[in-house]
Amino acid sequence: MGQEITLPQFRRWLLAYARRIIQEEDYLTELDAAIGDADHGANMRRGMVKVLERLQAPDDNCNDIGSLLRSVAMIMISSVGGAAGPLYGTFFLRAAAVANQHRSVTLPELARMFRTGLEGIQQRGKAVLEDKTMVDAIQPAVEALEAAAEANQSLAVALASARQAAKLGMEHTVELVARKGRASYLGPRSVGFQDPGATSAYYLFETAAETLATPAENGSEQGQKSTSQEPGDP
Ligand SMILES: [Mg+2]
Repeated sequence: MGQEITLPQFRRWLLAYARRIIQEEDYLTELDAAIGDADHGANMRRGMVKVLERLQAPDDNCNDIGSLLRSVAMIMISSVGGAAGPLYGTFFLRAAAVANQHRSVTLPELARMFRTGLEGIQQRGKAVLEDKTMVDAIQPAVEALEAAAEANQSLAVALASARQAAKLGMEHTVELVARKGRASYLGPRSVGFQDPGATSAYYLFETAAETLATPAENGSEQGQKSTSQEPGDP
């Protein structure tokens, strides 16, 4: 029995992710302007504004982790343009199918959700490691989570290690020749620029490390089985 990640924590994660993307819109645009068509920032922001609206609505009807992730997936698919919308949508849909009606998940379950999400992205986008895509951030992060789960690490350690792996993977895209998407038309001229998709994907793990390892404010919510300390405990 390890620590559990609850529905309110997932909600907090997705809100933090949406806010981070909105905050970094100009940076994502700048990255995509160098090797793509400069729309990644605007595309992602459009989706994330809708995610914020949805998750802040008092009646969002997301009563389990699966339905929460599914609602985010549908927003990404319908409102984020370019390749990113369907790819992120697939990631969240596949993860939602694993989480299903659970209201909390363990670290090994989280690793399985993210692994399944990654597989969905790879099936859909046909990208492998070192193609200079979002896979370069997500795959090392998933592997780090799996290794941490295997080693019975705490959630905080596991998520910190996933964040670090995603960061290194994102930074490594600078050195890579793009083999997928619009950037691949540049061939060797794509070297020297960080991939925008790997960057927006890195924020998934950055915000996960900030939100999923500590109980949400309303951590005493009915149904929570967390063994971790409640906020406000003496
Ligand atoms: Mg683009």
